[in-house]
Amino acid sequence: MKYEVNFSCGHTETTELFGPYEQRRRKIAWFEECGICSKCYKERKEIENSIGCNEVEMFYGEFKKNYSNCKTKAGSYNGKTKTIVVYVPVSA
Ligand SMILES: [Zn+2]
Repeated sequence: MKYEVNFSCGHTETTELFGPYEQRRRKIAWFEECGICSKCYKERKEIENSIGCNEVEMFYGEFKKNYSNCKTKAGSYNGKTKTIVVYVPVSA
């Protein structure tokens, strides 16, 4: 079943829910009260990923070779310059 849900962040998103009616109804109520849409969720994840890290722009090859265990900034890959923004832990 697809539902139009008004998330607590103020955005509306179509969400697919499964399971018994009562369970779906509770989930929607939760979304409306404290859930956030997928776009805001991604933004929040970006912030969480960047905590304690420096944003370093580097060549994609370097990232693969030396920093492949680090998180990258979503959509930061630049096909022209072949660089990507990597969250490098400050302590490293
Ligand atoms: Zn949102």
